[in-house]
Amino acid sequence: MHNEFIDKPDKMEEACGVFGIYAPGKDVSMLTYYALYSLQHRGQESAGIAVANGEGIKLHKDMGLVSEVFTEDTLQKLKGHAAIGHVRYSTMGSSLVLNAQPLVCHYLQGSLAVAHNGNLTNAGELRQKLAANGSVFQSSIDSEVIVNLIARYGQSTIEEALMKCMIDLRGSYSLVVMTEDKVIGIRDPYGNRPLCLGKLGKHFVIASETCALDTLGAEFVRDFAPGEIITLDKDGMHSRRYFTPNEPAVCIFEYIYFARPDSNIDGINVMQARRAMGRELAHEHPLEADIVIPVPDSGIAGALGYAEELGLVYDTALMKNRYIGRTFIQPDQMGRDLGVSLKLNPITKIIKGKKVVVVDDSIVRGTTSRKIVEMIRSRGAKEVHMLVSSPPVMHPCYYGIDISERGQLIAAQKSIEEVRAYIAADSLHYLSIEGLYRALGKDTGFCSACLSGNYPIQIPSEDELGKHILETSQHNRKEARKCGNAR
Ligand code: SF4
Repeated sequence: MHNEFIDKPDKMEEACGVFGIYAPGKDVSMLTYYALYSLQHRGQESAGIAVANGEGIKLHKDMGLVSEVFTEDTLQKLKGHAAIGHVRYSTMGSSLVLNAQPLVCHYLQGSLAVAHNGNLTNAGELRQKLAANGSVFQSSIDSEVIVNLIARYGQSTIEEALMKCMIDLRGSYSLVVMTEDKVIGIRDPYGNRPLCLGKLGKHFVIASETCALDTLGAEFVRDFAPGEIITLDKDGMHSRRYFTPNEPAVCIFEYIYFARPDSNIDGINVMQARRAMGRELAHEHPLEADIVIPVPDSGIAGALGYAEELGLVYDTALMKNRYIGRTFIQPDQMGRDLGVSLKLNPITKIIKGKKVVVVDDSIVRGTTSRKIVEMIRSRGAKEVHMLVSSPPVMHPCYYGIDISERGQLIAAQKSIEEVRAYIAADSLHYLSIEGLYRALGKDTGFCSACLSGNYPIQIPSEDELGKHILETSQHNRKEARKCGNAR
């Protein structure tokens, strides 16, 4: 096994989920807690809720899952008329509690809380400019740059300050911002990360995904338009757009893997889109197989689509252990080798002697696929064919997804035949980018940079990126020593 691929998770990892609510008279912290529960798939490292209560902003955040961070007691102490919440998976900035969000600060107009999903591509440059003008940074995350920028424009109304920030910010951001009397949502001018508006009775809510609205029993109102700023306050909801919108560049990986299948993003249901990807895969690579099995859970929709299109038998022959948490210990090589078989186990009686098609949504590093093929073959499958319902991931993402280095991507290092040999499958087939667009019903309005190499939003230069990563890691080492809480 190639060591360069074994220490990282074998999936693209999402950066964050955000939520906001303005609802005097409602239990806003409890509603935010439930919403964060439904957004947990977007980040499992830390969680936080900030509440505005008329006297200021109260905050509780910590490392861990939503269920670990909050107790009835902590939620009881978070009473107010408005709240914002955040779940985080770290991309830029390491796993320290001080990098958890929301970030809360005091500025000219009072208290302010910010929760951010995405990555700024000019964070390093902005950080330097702000620091040169006297700003002090406590964390290594992009979101603190946003907080400092808002503070710098503190003479203006919060909406005007945010509009000025948007002129400075480059990259990907869906934000929820809370002052003492407003909750404001912003989607970047490319609409790279999802953000939607819902209505709960007479009150409005803002969420990364519609699944959070469903959980609360809120009605979906609409997705934020790229570049839109929506304010929730005592007078209801107000929308502003200061920018001529760019051609949207919605992250295509939201449909492939990140978002929950029951969510709809910009009018497209994620489950239906994934199933259509499986059907397109069947058109492009029809195999005669005895059985089609998904890699749970990510390959289920694609496998269903593939099997139904070709009239093949679909079965769940890979059992997933649902009780392996984040804290699973992988102390040594043996632990890492056992990792996949602890998580997944093939059902021998279903696959023995069969020609098996295994469907997954994507292959990032190839380590899990290799182990899965090996396990299925060792249980007596006659042939094992790996089908992937998205194109090869060949380029880094700079917009908030944890694949910043090309060296981690197996498809960037090896040809398809070499990847097939590495995972030891009888054949390996990917969906084409055209097939992906057909499945989504259109071929414009997406960011597909990690698949195509065409970056719709300006990316940092090698110098900027290298410097930022260096500064971030130095800062984090210093803070970890100070706090003693690095994970
Ligand atoms: S590069 Fe890939 S993962 Fe990153 S925003 Fe674009 S489509 Fe999404």
